[in-house]
Amino acid sequence: MYIKDQVKKLTPYKPGKTVDEVKKELGLNEIIKLASNENPFGCSAKVGEELTAHAMNYAIYPDGGGSILRQALTEFYQLPGDHFMLGNGSDEIIQIISRAMLDASKNTVMAVPTFPQYRHNAVIEGAEVTEVPLVDGIHDLEKMAQAVNSDTAVIWVCSPNNPTGISISDQKLRGFLDRIPADVVIVLDEAYFEYVTAADYYDALELIKQYPNLIVTRTFSKAYGLAGLRVGYGIAQPELIQALEPVREPFNTNSLAQLAAAAAMKDQEFIQYCKEQNRIGIEKFERFCSEHKLNYFPTQGNFILVHFNKDANEMFEALMNKGIIARSGHALGYPQSLRITIGTEEQVDKTLKAIEEIISQ
Ligand code: PMP
Repeated sequence: MYIKDQVKKLTPYKPGKTVDEVKKELGLNEIIKLASNENPFGCSAKVGEELTAHAMNYAIYPDGGGSILRQALTEFYQLPGDHFMLGNGSDEIIQIISRAMLDASKNTVMAVPTFPQYRHNAVIEGAEVTEVPLVDGIHDLEKMAQAVNSDTAVIWVCSPNNPTGISISDQKLRGFLDRIPADVVIVLDEAYFEYVTAADYYDALELIKQYPNLIVTRTFSKAYGLAGLRVGYGIAQPELIQALEPVREPFNTNSLAQLAAAAAMKDQEFIQYCKEQNRIGIEKFERFCSEHKLNYFPTQGNFILVHFNKDANEMFEALMNKGIIARSGHALGYPQSLRITIGTEEQVDKTLKAIEEIISQ
């Protein structure tokens, strides 16, 4: 069998243990899973109402154009429907961009550490990957702009960045975009956009109007609480969306996901509530870290990367034994840190209590 050389070198995604598996293994009744930046409040009640109100015929294919969801996006953003590409999660938008724009003759620029799917997809396409180290958890946009060469096709910018949580300011991002040649596409991954409270954050919709080579990706998996349905989207000028469309599978977002996401968008009160609760949780973490002299990155996402000055896997195990599953920083480029999703206030309190018990031993 022929398998591309570069694929042979990649490791497949390793799913974490399920909550039930961990419960059984450790004999615990309650597990708090804070490893995948899911929404601890679930999703809007409107989603369930909408799905029960619409009898769905599962025997027919989904609407390949996603018209209900596209209409909801149009109303929300006040942008015509041709500015959006729907994806089976924003993961799929990343894959589509890579498939359409990268091959062995191309170079692609990204930060490190950042969301691993940019690199993963670029490697599958055989592209050369230039990774520019973060500085104090922040994208080094100066060096990233310098790394662009005549082969560069795509640049990936993640804001807020996973795993550090740090967002980019309007001024810095504009300065960067102005330096990027018009034939290089910039992907601005805003998976955590709904949680951002930073006053200096940019308005990506304004940027799209000004930069035809910019595509923004957002998702229903985080604040909207629909990770299990897999739905995300790209926003860009219609010419860029059109250029990518041939790569998209005709029925890539399913009927349930389209309907649920459209319903979820109509409940912005829920999003606001989650954003506020997330901020309360972050502040608790920050206070705790300061009191316990733990370093952390100031986050704009629904997770926080905390540095423990000891092996991340040890800390991960110790927390897991107390029923809390975080994400070890080993696979994230921070071998002494844990990335912890901000849970409900009760979950945050339990997590901080558990951490306190572990570090004071
Ligand atoms: N981008 C970033 C930065 C992420 O953290 C994630 C999810 N972990 C994604 C994209 C993909 O999310 P989804 O495919 O669920 O939309």
